[in-house]
Amino acid sequence: MYRAITSRIFNEPVVIGGENEGYIAMDHAKSLPDFLADRYRAWKDTKYEEKADHLRTLARDGQTPSTLLIACSDSRIHAFAMFGVEPGEFFLHRNIANLVPAYEADGGVHGTSAVIEYAVTALNVPHIVVLGHSGCGGVRGCHDMCRGDAPALEEKTSFVGRWMDALRPGYERVKHIEDEATRVSTLEREGVIQSLGNLMTFPFVASRVNAGEVSLHGLWTDIGEGTLEQYDPSQGAFVPV
Ligand SMILES: [Zn+2]
Repeated sequence: MYRAITSRIFNEPVVIGGENEGYIAMDHAKSLPDFLADRYRAWKDTKYEEKADHLRTLARDGQTPSTLLIACSDSRIHAFAMFGVEPGEFFLHRNIANLVPAYEADGGVHGTSAVIEYAVTALNVPHIVVLGHSGCGGVRGCHDMCRGDAPALEEKTSFVGRWMDALRPGYERVKHIEDEATRVSTLEREGVIQSLGNLMTFPFVASRVNAGEVSLHGLWTDIGEGTLEQYDPSQGAFVPV
């Protein structure tokens, strides 16, 4: 069955479906819901217009971001607003619980590691920031899994569970804490420290850090209060920013 998908980006139809080799039929895609289309059009008419010159310059000249920010996918983290980030300034990666896995060049598919490689070796970002947060569902899941209270996360088929295995060593460091809320909150910060440590297992990160070309920063934010803490290695603790 012939299907034509056309684009008028360049004011002429570009057929990317039909008889082209490798064409994948996609019958499930729908038009944007009105609330999203309306928001886009409002942005295009206002904020885009204000920044159009800057965005055209970025489109022409490419990006030179100052910072790779690794944050949680949690919708409550307004990462760009927190730092007043303009287009072109931050290279952003978000995943469950803002984790960096250990370096593993095994030929497998490693999305987070690909982002780090590109940001460091292609874009030469001078700063890498890992941002943890209060009430992290991923960290909570890891906590419960490690205590044997979340059997579904222990299944081989659980992507979240296997992803959160990376934080199991962190749980070992906090499991002695009696108060549960304190234990989980501490594990959120342990996740940041563990991610900073895992960043140093990437040879191209470690060499640049040791040469003073890249600096690593660990942060934790309280969503409700808007407070921010940073890891101070001299104190071995998170301190207010
Ligand atoms: Zn989270």
